[in-house]
Amino acid sequence: MDEVTPIFGENVFNETVMKARLPKETFKQLMKTINDGEKLNPAVANVVANAMKEWACEKGATHFTHWFQPLTGITAEKHDSFITPTSDGKVIMEFSGKELVQGEPDASSFPSGGIRATFEARGYTAWDPTSYAFIKDGTLCIPTAFCSYTGEALDKKTPLLRSMQAISKQAVRVLKLFDGNEDVTSVKTTVGPEQEYFLVDKSVYDKREDLIYTGRTLFGAKAPKGQELEDHYFGMIKPRVQEFMKDLNKELWKLGILAKTEHNEVAPAQHELAPIFSTTNLACDHNQLTMEMMRKIAAKHGMVCLLHEKPFAGVNGSGKHNNWSISTNTGKNLLDPGATPDQNAQFLLFLCAIIKGVDEYQDLLRISVASAGNDHRLGANEAPPAIISIFLGDELSAILDSIEKGVPYGKHEKEKMQIGVTVLPDFNKDTTDRNRTSPFAFTGNKFEFRMLGSNESIACANVFLNTVVAEELSQFADQLEKAKDFKGALHDLILKTIKEHKRIIFNGNGYDDSWVKEAEKRGLYNLKSTPEALPHILDEKNVKVFEKFGVYSKVELESRFEIHNENYSKIINIEAETMLEMAKKDILPAASKYANKLAQTIGLKKAACGECDTTYESAMLKKVSALTSSIYSKTDKLESEVLAAKKTADAGDSSKTAFFYREHVFTAMNELRLCADELETITPKELWPFPSYGDLLFSVR
Ligand code: ADP
Ligand code: MG
Repeated sequence: MDEVTPIFGENVFNETVMKARLPKETFKQLMKTINDGEKLNPAVANVVANAMKEWACEKGATHFTHWFQPLTGITAEKHDSFITPTSDGKVIMEFSGKELVQGEPDASSFPSGGIRATFEARGYTAWDPTSYAFIKDGTLCIPTAFCSYTGEALDKKTPLLRSMQAISKQAVRVLKLFDGNEDVTSVKTTVGPEQEYFLVDKSVYDKREDLIYTGRTLFGAKAPKGQELEDHYFGMIKPRVQEFMKDLNKELWKLGILAKTEHNEVAPAQHELAPIFSTTNLACDHNQLTMEMMRKIAAKHGMVCLLHEKPFAGVNGSGKHNNWSISTNTGKNLLDPGATPDQNAQFLLFLCAIIKGVDEYQDLLRISVASAGNDHRLGANEAPPAIISIFLGDELSAILDSIEKGVPYGKHEKEKMQIGVTVLPDFNKDTTDRNRTSPFAFTGNKFEFRMLGSNESIACANVFLNTVVAEELSQFADQLEKAKDFKGALHDLILKTIKEHKRIIFNGNGYDDSWVKEAEKRGLYNLKSTPEALPHILDEKNVKVFEKFGVYSKVELESRFEIHNENYSKIINIEAETMLEMAKKDILPAASKYANKLAQTIGLKKAACGECDTTYESAMLKKVSALTSSIYSKTDKLESEVLAAKKTADAGDSSKTAFFYREHVFTAMNELRLCADELETITPKELWPFPSYGDLLFSVR
């Protein structure tokens, strides 16, 4: 027997386990809740809870926790043991339906962006039965949603589930207009997130305060070798990394996570893991667990896993490619063009919904990936630009073009493209996957949203994507449902959508400077930084679309706006404080020491032999002294900017504060870094206070 099959999902309370351990009737009821969203009655919850506890205890678990995804972007858990004292001074292990279904963590320690102040202090967690319970580190984890008592979502999961319902309902409306969809009752969005990360040796990491406090290097001169030889991508995986990957896969498999592909990435020390896609809420849970496991398993192997979007300047950053599609409950992928004219027509309509949605809500998609860490990637010459556009490939673009213009498409075709009559050619992966610079690319049977940062939860991007596509599908359904001539109306609608929204389609090189100008001409957004992007979340059209589908209320959006701005400012503040500490306690003293050494050498040389040449030492001393003065004054400058930022923050406008951090503090940080990195290049290794980029990037052998 192979190694994987017996362990796969062994720590998951999945359907097979439920079927084996639950009374028939309970299992049936639970499945109704899972599949159709029916309310679970308390008696059933008690039986399920008991079965879960027995299963977990047999596997050595002693505690349970509600596992949720607060707005911090990571997961939260509070462990309670199963023990209940008995009258004879002993304990028994107990777990009730009530404990399974609802929990009350202390909501006040999680960000709420003002919701708690205005509404209700307490929050509660509610079991999400569509995501299986699992055991991690001897604890039974119950996936839950986290809400305030007045019903506002305080987490990332709740809006995700709401957005999945929204797109399901609207997609089914559209599907009912086409033949062959009689059995379709719901659709699900599916996601396969490819996760990039760096591995560095723990002993080297421990000597870098910046990595410890902020996850990225705030100082560091370029190493003599970086990624220029392109010898790392898909290269041989080092034995130590191989061991890590093997362990990681095993742990992920036990949790039922479909870890599938692993390879080296472009930068030295950079790697990627891709799972097989699953339903979006599961993919989101699993991606959070994957990141957690990556950190834990790396520690076991004496390494540290860096999930920051840009741990090293001048070296590729890490992202997360969100492969996204829509499938029906009958198992059909709606972004697969299909083989018949009818299927093609349906595909084109869904494609148009996505094109229109992405064009009308570019700002939302941009916001969904905005963070202090990701700002270093987007628009830098390696990741997609901060401008949203769609790549369709030449073939599909030619087809849309021919529909728009009413002319034959392709070189060999004589016929005009007639929706519902003509068969589309096969789009094989080769022709659709070539452009790696596009932020949102069609790759044959799914879209790949490539702007996500490596460290972020995938929830937000998918909430926004699901919602805007739901909106377009609902508009399409409104129009087509009342059409007398369906085929004619369908054709007109597709034609109109292409005409009005083709500006968002761009098949060229997204890294090219000319694209920035071209995009401006087309009237596309170019929201360069997080503080610049965030205010758009409260634009009228955006509030309207989220409210229409009940995904976020205005209050929930306002809270997210506050939290994201605050989070941005806090991150820059921590980075600035860390830089100040490193500059004052390590770099400046090291510079003095080096200057002192040089001065001593000059003095000693002169004393020993009057006419001895000290050109080298004198030149170095001059350089070191000049750089030291610059570093000193830039440190001073940064310090006063940080103070000014704190004053701005006191005024209470979180957006203004974030802008201040971006424009003043961040700029001062870059200036300080520039001088310090230059000093590093001329300082002897033994005097420089931290491991170099070379030491870090080539630390795992
Ligand atoms: P590669 O890019 O390595 O050639 P694929 O393009 O097949 O591989 O897949 C990349 C990622 O996209 C994987 O995580 C895969 O599971 C995911 N994926 C494939 N099909 C779908 C789909 N229909 N919906 C969502 N994700 C998908
Ligand atoms: Mg990819």
